[in-house]
Amino acid sequence: MNLKIGIVGLPNVGKSTLFNALTNAGALSANYPFATIEPNVGIVPVPDERLDVLAKMYDTEKIVPATVEFVDIAGLVAGASKGEGLGNKFLAHIRECQIICHVVRAFEDKDVVSYEETKAENGAPENNPASGDNPIIAQAVKKVNPKHDIDIINTELELADLETKEKIAAKRKKDASDEHVPFLTEKPVIYMFNVDEKTLVDDTKKAELRKLVEPAQAVFVNAKLEEEMAGMTKAEKMEFLESYGVKEDALGELVKAAYKTLGLQSFLTAGKKECRAWTIKKGATAPEAAGTIHTDFERGFIAAQICNYDDLVKLGSEKAVKEAGLMRTEGKTYVMREGDVVEFKFNV
Ligand code: GDP
Repeated sequence: MNLKIGIVGLPNVGKSTLFNALTNAGALSANYPFATIEPNVGIVPVPDERLDVLAKMYDTEKIVPATVEFVDIAGLVAGASKGEGLGNKFLAHIRECQIICHVVRAFEDKDVVSYEETKAENGAPENNPASGDNPIIAQAVKKVNPKHDIDIINTELELADLETKEKIAAKRKKDASDEHVPFLTEKPVIYMFNVDEKTLVDDTKKAELRKLVEPAQAVFVNAKLEEEMAGMTKAEKMEFLESYGVKEDALGELVKAAYKTLGLQSFLTAGKKECRAWTIKKGATAPEAAGTIHTDFERGFIAAQICNYDDLVKLGSEKAVKEAGLMRTEGKTYVMREGDVVEFKFNV
């Protein structure tokens, strides 16, 4: 199972900067709406320190982490579902993702224009109070307004779904085939607030933002800091972030939130040839877990030899775990647990 996350948000909220930081893929980032014309795709390893520990223990040749795929979807603007901005092409890209990461600007920076300001410059009087003569209204609209920005994007997603529904209804008259349509608004969303350094450690402000999107999960990152960490080692990154009072980088935060929202967990396989992490649904049985490795493993499943990662680390080797009676043989109905280290027995 490959976790696929679609990144959406208004222009200039920091999507490309974050995508760069998340993938180090060198996506275009510039102070200009629509800098990200083509959706960028990046696949990165899910951070998992347990794999390094196991690799040492088993003197492993290869570490294979679980992966997460990011699709950076260019600026969604009011009217996108009708073809303004970049239109339906990129909505199709969101449809392929299991989860949406909605990036919301919550940082103040007078040098970075906001979406409303560019609308004011381009002049769109009908939906743009800032273009009026009232300086007070203009000022209010120019201020960073996360709630307003979130509403624009969510309305666009709803409109896109409505249009899809209309298309299906029209088609059904001729053709009654029951195709499965993944509606955008049915997808789980994680809100990623791009905040300044001060807000990163301001629990009151964060609680306010969190409240805007409940019950969805909120994560807080500073895209600029994340960008500055490109090229640093993991240890350097952590030290750098800690100096700002942060314990985890954006990738770690986002992946954790995505696993939680989607009800995912991982299990591990370890040996001389490779140490590997696999992603499965919580509640998956042993044969289902085996099936993520190979469908033959599920079909020919006999049993799973399982120990707990913490036991393995505490006792230092598979042999010691066996001697302590902590290696279990589990059958078809066993429900997998986070951190199970597994060897499947199967018959093909
Ligand atoms: P996108 O249009 O959503 O992809 O936005 P970009 O990632 O291209 O960012 C737009 C502008 O905002 C760029 O000039 C970035 O350097 C700047 N920017 C992004 N994140 C931050 C941040 O956290 N703080 C500040 N001050 N500027 C940021």
